[in-house]
Amino acid sequence: MPVRVRIAPSPTGALHIGTARSALFNYLFAKKNHGKFILRVEDTDKERSELRWVQDIIDGLKWLGIKWDEGPDIDGKFGPYKQSQRNNLYEKYLKKLLDEDKAYFCFCTTEELENKRQEQMSRGLAPKYDGTCAHLPEKIIEKNFAEKKLSVIRFRVENKKIKFNDLIRGEVEFDTILMGDIIIAKDFETPLYNFTAVVDDFEMKISHVIRGEDHISNTPKQLLIQEALGFYHPEYGHLPLILAPDRSKMSKRFGAVSVTEYKDQGYLPEALINFMALLGWNPGTEEEVFSLSQLSKEFSIEKVQKSGAIFNIQKLDSLNGFYIREKPIEKLTELCTPYLKEAGLLVAGQITQNKLQEIIEVSKTRMKKLSDIVELSDFFFADKLKYDKNLLSWNKMGESEIKDSLKYSEKILSENKKWELKNIEVELFLASEKFNLEKNYPEKNKGYMLWPLRVALSGKQSSPSPFEIANILGKEKTLKRIQEAIKLL
Ligand code: GLU
Repeated sequence: MPVRVRIAPSPTGALHIGTARSALFNYLFAKKNHGKFILRVEDTDKERSELRWVQDIIDGLKWLGIKWDEGPDIDGKFGPYKQSQRNNLYEKYLKKLLDEDKAYFCFCTTEELENKRQEQMSRGLAPKYDGTCAHLPEKIIEKNFAEKKLSVIRFRVENKKIKFNDLIRGEVEFDTILMGDIIIAKDFETPLYNFTAVVDDFEMKISHVIRGEDHISNTPKQLLIQEALGFYHPEYGHLPLILAPDRSKMSKRFGAVSVTEYKDQGYLPEALINFMALLGWNPGTEEEVFSLSQLSKEFSIEKVQKSGAIFNIQKLDSLNGFYIREKPIEKLTELCTPYLKEAGLLVAGQITQNKLQEIIEVSKTRMKKLSDIVELSDFFFADKLKYDKNLLSWNKMGESEIKDSLKYSEKILSENKKWELKNIEVELFLASEKFNLEKNYPEKNKGYMLWPLRVALSGKQSSPSPFEIANILGKEKTLKRIQEAIKLL
């Protein structure tokens, strides 16, 4: 059977990082096996599904660079690809199950079901449907309908052991005795997930279902429904759960869970892709940097681990920093610009594109995410810096010593004839040696001159070197900042 895989998100919220990872693994599996990757929108829950989330899912996957072959926006032979548009199909199969007595109408009210549940639990039993409506006489059913009693459609679950060979977890066994008859539709217009997924996986000729481990308990249900409808069984593979660092379920408490949030914070799609690939998969080597196209060649489902994958934000940050530094400066500047604009730092006409590129070039080594550019570079744009004068002190230098140091820098820089990075650097280095000699500071310790200068120019505990800053600020601004620092003392 040709390889056809799918991702089947429910548009009830923003594209979750777990769904994006499932999409990536399916995409890679399809690429590796020359198959097709399908996006199917599971929007049967009319109350919770929203169009804006469909759009968010589509936009998020596109931004990541995960492309599908068939989906709501790319028609194929097996469409439509939104479940809300496939109701006639579901109805057909629901009727088939009802006709063959593999499913039945259940009239138990929510309240009755809840009472039964409580009663079972109080007896120490696992709650499951007790079969009250499983064999109602035809007359009662007709009477209930005539009285317009509410009903759902339940699927008869036979008591047996179900085994399947999971692509990742190996042999998995479930005992359906714990399950009870399951609801597969609220009514003909409202079929439910386990049923619609089975119908669509069959109708869309899905060969492999690769999804999160949180769905593993649905698999036996889906296998049973397939059997009842005479469908083939796709192969199943359940991806390890994504866990927070304390091994609890990944939740908002540990940071962002949606792709959009990561995008807005300034993570690059390349970094997220690389990071998500390593959430459960590893190449079996020390290599950690993978592009999407490399992954398409190297990925294999056999190398996906069974145990939970810990979400390590430091790793994401370090990968993101790596991809940031890889970007051509023009591109990186373009990517940083919205963050600077939003922070009010970029005012039209105040700075040339070249200058801006220089600022980003000297800041990029410290960037973990694009948004970091604001804090790393704000002092370049400021008219006047605000900082604590104690920061100017290097190695317990007193105020008058700092003043001497700054005056020394001021003199050297004001005499400069060629305002150029290399030149500024050489002049200041030579000067700092002389300065140390004059002041009896340890010869090699350049901090006595360069630290106060760097703080005077940046107002920060850490920043690019004073040469780089001076070079970008220009002579006039540089001297002005030194004078302002002297005034602080
Ligand atoms: N609609 C389900 C979800 O969003 C799909 C699960 C599956 O892949 O079968 O989790």
